[in-house]
This record gives sequence, C-alpha cells and structure tokens, in this order.
Amino acid sequence: MNTTFDNNGIRKITYTINTVILFIVFALLAFFYFSHMPFLVWFSLPTALVYLIGYLLIYKNKLYAYVCMVYSWLTLYMFVTTICLGYNYGFHLYSLSMIPIIYYTKYMGYRLNMRSTRVGMFAALIILAYLGCTFYVAIKGPVYESTEAASAFFWISNSLIVFSFLIYYTRMLLQNIISSEEKLRQMSYVDKLTGLYNRHYMMDQLERITDGSRTHTVAMIDIDDFKKINDVYGHNAGDYVLKKLSDVMSASCPGAVISRWGGEEFLLLIGNQEDVPSLMEQLRGSVEAEDFSFEGSRIRVTITIGLSEKEGSPDIDKWIQEADNKLYIGKKNGKNVVIT
Ligand code: GH3
Ligand code: MG
Ligand code: MG
Repeated sequence: MNTTFDNNGIRKITYTINTVILFIVFALLAFFYFSHMPFLVWFSLPTALVYLIGYLLIYKNKLYAYVCMVYSWLTLYMFVTTICLGYNYGFHLYSLSMIPIIYYTKYMGYRLNMRSTRVGMFAALIILAYLGCTFYVAIKGPVYESTEAASAFFWISNSLIVFSFLIYYTRMLLQNIISSEEKLRQMSYVDKLTGLYNRHYMMDQLERITDGSRTHTVAMIDIDDFKKINDVYGHNAGDYVLKKLSDVMSASCPGAVISRWGGEEFLLLIGNQEDVPSLMEQLRGSVEAEDFSFEGSRIRVTITIGLSEKEGSPDIDKWIQEADNKLYIGKKNGKNVVIT
C-alpha cells in the first residue's frame, strides 16, 4: 500500500473511489427501477451527476470542493434512502464509516497543505441526518414496502461495504502514522550534514551495552587542524571534508557504529570481533592517503584517534573520557596517530 502522500497519489485513490461509488449508484438505480420505486429512480439521477461533477473537480485538483460536495450528498443520500426503504436496508450504517473518513480527510489535508475541512460541522450534520431518518422510520415506517430477501441482501452488502471502508481507512491511517514516526525517529538519530548517526543515537547504543562478557572499544576521532582547513579553503570546503571523511570511515569500518560526536569529532563503537588498533591504524592511513580535492584545491586531511577498551557494562562518561584523554595525548604528540 502506498504510504507516502503526494497529490497525485491522493487523486488516483479519489478517482478510484469516485468510480466505485458511481458504479454502485447505477446498480442501485437499476434496482429501484425494477422494484418500482420511482422517487428513488429520479433521486439517483442528481446523485450520478454529483459523481460526474466529482471527476471534473478531481481533474481540476479541487479536492476540498470534491470532499465537501461528496460528503454532503452522501449524507443526504443516506437520509433519503433510509426514509424510503427503512433501516432494514442498512443505508444509515454509512454514517458510521463517514465519521472516521472525514477526520481522515482532515489529516490528509494537513499532510498536503490543503485548506482545512470543517470536519466537526460535517460530523454533526451526519449525526443529525442519522438520528432524523432513523427516528422518522421508527415512527412512521418506510415510504416503500419491500421484500425480506431484498432488505437482507442490502443489509449484508451495505454492512460489508461499511466495514471495508472502515478497515481500509483505519489501516491507511495507521500505516501513515507508523511511517511518519519511523521518519521522525530516523531524523532524530541522523546527522544531517554527514548522514552518520548523531550523538543522541550513540548514547542510546552505549547505554544498551549490557553484555558483560564482551569487550567493546570506543574510538574518539578528531580531524587535525580543521580550523585551518576552514580558514584557508572556506567553510564549504570544511563541510566537504566532513562528508568525505564520513564516507571513508563508513567504508573502512563496516562493523562499527559511527557517530558524529561534535563539530569535527567522531565517536566509533566497535565490537571485540575486530582487531581495533590495527583497524584504526588502517583507517588513519586511508584518510591520510585519500584525495580530498575541493574546487581545484587538494586539501591535506589527517586524523588523530584515541582508543578505550572496556569489558562489561562500563561507566559511559568515564569510558569516553578515557578515549578523549588518549586523543589529547595524540594531539600533543604531533597528531596523525592512533593512541591505544
Ligand atoms: P586540532 O588539530 O587540535 O583538533 O585543531 P582543530 O583546528 O581541528 O580544532 P579546533 O577545535 O580549534 O577547531 C575545530 C573547528 O571545526 C572550529 C569550527 O569552526 C569547525 N567546525 C565545527 N563544525 C563544523 C562544521 O559543521 N562545518 C565546518 N566547515 N566547520 C566546522
Ligand atoms: Mg575537536
Ligand atoms: Mg580538530
């Protein structure tokens, strides 16, 4: 099922629903004709016209006008058919599915930045129509006499259509909520510039280490003289270096959780299945050898790495502090080194 909203997707669904309803209107028209219910035959004609105009509105992208017109007419249709045929036919059940649908429409409008539908007013109108027609039938009885076979057929088909609508819209709403939450979660965990995980995600991962039997290493990585890169080549060149370095790290350390810890600092979490010191030494060498060229200038980029290994469930702050201290030692000792 399509869970991403775009205007074309919505229009396609609306075209389909409009066609299904129009088909039902004609089928009902035939039934009313053969059952000698002249008023309902005539009433079916403006109903069909509403859905034909509906095509035009969808074509012209006037979805707000379409929704207002169709829901108003559906309410009227439910009202009239219930008074004429009685509630044994189950036309009044449509009001039950229309309420969630109009609220769903409001949500779609919000997603598409459309005008906000006055759903409260529509809901009230639907409830009034529902009470009005069922109350009328309870007191006066339906306008037309009908057979039990016909009413049983309509009761079952109308119930099934109403249930299908309810399930369809509820599923769609649920899937949209899930996909929105998923997107938000992704966004809250990812650094926009580099596409790496952010500090927040890394903290979550570090806090989740509960396996006391395994060793984990954190590597604090800092770009050497990055301020100079910004000063000499400009901020955009600095951003380019951050992005390209992120790609190099992702390619070199596929088993690690890699995060952008701060401006030009990265924190990696690596499991004990790797020989971390030699992996980091390789990474340091790859970065030094990588061609960082931006707008015709070749930029020399090196990194300093501080490592800290822990067993079990460590004190996270101390663990990171230890890697930071090692990094500091590396910076003091000429940079472009790995300190274990
Ligand atoms: P060291 O070798 O000791 O690490 O020196 P350094 O110049 O790399 O470190 P310093 O902390 O002095 O400078 C870091 C610079 O990183 C300063 C800041 O402007 C820059 N920076 C932080 N975030 C970004 C960013 O997103 N883009 C760019 N272009 N620069 C950034
Ligand atoms: Mg720094
Ligand atoms: Mg630095």
